[in-house]
Amino acid sequence: MPKLAASKALVEDLVAGSRILAEHEVLDAYGHLSARSDKRPEHFIMSRSRAPALVTAADLIEWGADSEAVTGDKRKGFIERYIHGEIYRARPEVMAVVHSHSPSVIPYGVTQTKLRPIYHMGSFLWSGAPVWDIRKVREENDLLVRDRPLGAALAGALGKCNCVLMRGHGMTVVGEIEGPVAFLSDEEGRRSTAANRGTLERPWELWKTRAARATRRS
Ligand SMILES: [Zn+2]
Repeated sequence: MPKLAASKALVEDLVAGSRILAEHEVLDAYGHLSARSDKRPEHFIMSRSRAPALVTAADLIEWGADSEAVTGDKRKGFIERYIHGEIYRARPEVMAVVHSHSPSVIPYGVTQTKLRPIYHMGSFLWSGAPVWDIRKVREENDLLVRDRPLGAALAGALGKCNCVLMRGHGMTVVGEIEGPVAFLSDEEGRRSTAANRGTLERPWELWKTRAARATRRS
């Protein structure tokens, strides 16, 4: 297995993160998580094409800024890895990317109702969740982000937000690993997100423990 430009801690977190997202049904057989390399920041680390619940350290591949494998790894990658590569290029501060087909967000990609936070644990949505419609970029498409131009267009739609919804497809969320119905105001959203960041160790420990238990059972 080619050596990755990533610390042991990053590899462990990426494996745990994949399994946690699967356990919480954010990802199923489809969808993926990646992290920016902590040894070579222009690269990112993501699994080969495999269901996230089954990912192990041996499945991880190092990808370059062009979203192609950099270590001569010939294993099949996710078709939609360009989502990750183009967001890392466009947003230097982004350390992790999740792409999901979760049915719970699909309605927000096809209605005029905006996805907005109504409680503090959803505060990361304060920046808004724009809807990206692949048809506006490429008339003939199969909804998948299967090359760099489509990935760059999606990254452009994400802009400075934390989440972009994808019409008829799913969503992509970025993160850092380090209003009336009473939506949260921008200020509440900002402050609440900062407060939540300060307690991330607690859920992370819980989720990681659960994922490890589930792995032992399987
Ligand atoms: Zn997808």
